[in-house]
Amino acid sequence: MLGSIKQYVFSGVRGHYKDETNRRIVVVNLFAAVGMSITFLLGTRAFIDAEYPLAITLYTASVVFAFSQRIQVRFPSPKARTLSVSLLIFCLMILTLLLLITGGKDNTGPLWIYLVPPVTMFFAGFVRGLITLIAYTIVSAIVLFGFDESTFVASYTYAFKTRLLYSFLTVSFLSAFYEYSRQKSYDTALYLSEQFERQAKHDHLTQLLNRRGAQQCLEREYAGMLRNNRKLSIAIADIDRFKRINDTLGHEQGDEVLRQISNVFSSRLRAQDVLARWGGEEFMFIFTDTDEAGAVKALEYIKDKLNKAPLNINGSDIHVTSSFGVSEVSADVGISCAIRLADQALYYAKDNGRDCVCAASSLDTQSLAKN
Ligand code: GH3
Ligand code: MG
Ligand code: MG
Repeated sequence: MLGSIKQYVFSGVRGHYKDETNRRIVVVNLFAAVGMSITFLLGTRAFIDAEYPLAITLYTASVVFAFSQRIQVRFPSPKARTLSVSLLIFCLMILTLLLLITGGKDNTGPLWIYLVPPVTMFFAGFVRGLITLIAYTIVSAIVLFGFDESTFVASYTYAFKTRLLYSFLTVSFLSAFYEYSRQKSYDTALYLSEQFERQAKHDHLTQLLNRRGAQQCLEREYAGMLRNNRKLSIAIADIDRFKRINDTLGHEQGDEVLRQISNVFSSRLRAQDVLARWGGEEFMFIFTDTDEAGAVKALEYIKDKLNKAPLNINGSDIHVTSSFGVSEVSADVGISCAIRLADQALYYAKDNGRDCVCAASSLDTQSLAKN
């Protein structure tokens, strides 16, 4: 029993939807269940009291509530969810207007119109909810004041009608205010969580992906590479004699050197390639759709650019070089193994005079075994 209630409440909820979407799905399920049950019970009561038009109206509403819930479960798409919610709101509005017109049981029908503002605001959002509520208020005012002394609308006193409209407007205003505040808080929370997410994956100094971001990117690219049977290469760059730069220029200017190097590196990359700050003065290159030879070629070009264009730090030219270790990622050579190989190639480049690009495949197995 508890299991099937839970199953009903969460029907249509999907793990990959946004939290807000799943929350709306759950609320639609709950609202449809409550609406369906109440209208069914009240319809049965009206049927027993031989108030057949009211009974038929309530039974119809009950079916529409059930139907709108089924739509969002059967058709998991944004359009179907909008249709489902529109149907719920529309059904509620028609039902409450009919209760207003007919008076329902002993003229208590108008009491139900207070359901309309919070439900409409929650489901339709602030702007669409406001427009819908204004339209509903105009129709209600016409129903209440446009048919004086007529048999078409149930008889209410003038004081009742004006108070009903005033209190309805008050509830509408409060619901709109609440929904506006809720949406603003939600937007702020979303913005902050996106900012935190971004900061967690990016490096503050260079604005490049940090090690964590690079690792996630590598995993994504690796999965894509296996799926599409493509090539993937990585490289680790380490700035040569960077300690010396720090010692002569100071740590702050050292940071500026890192920022400018990251600009030189990233401006020479293809759009699909990724540059990340791997740590300290080390950078990681991710070359999608590229074999090791292609990556070596790209890095030779980048190395030349760095050699030919001195960095300008505080008005003076600084000549900085970098060493690069490259390796290809494949189904056999996984990510961590490829990183290890690129690291070994980088050490080899450092041992062989720096300012050069070394491919892991060019290292003899002896030297790999030694490391
Ligand atoms: P090698 O050619 O062998 O790489 O020599 P190196 O002096 O560059 O040696 P190593 O790579 O071991 O030195 C890294 C230095 O980079 C040490 C550290 O003080 C400096 N460093 C690391 N992170 C930062 C940073 O964020 N800013 C600055 N200014 N310096 C950093
Ligand atoms: Mg280093
Ligand atoms: Mg270094």
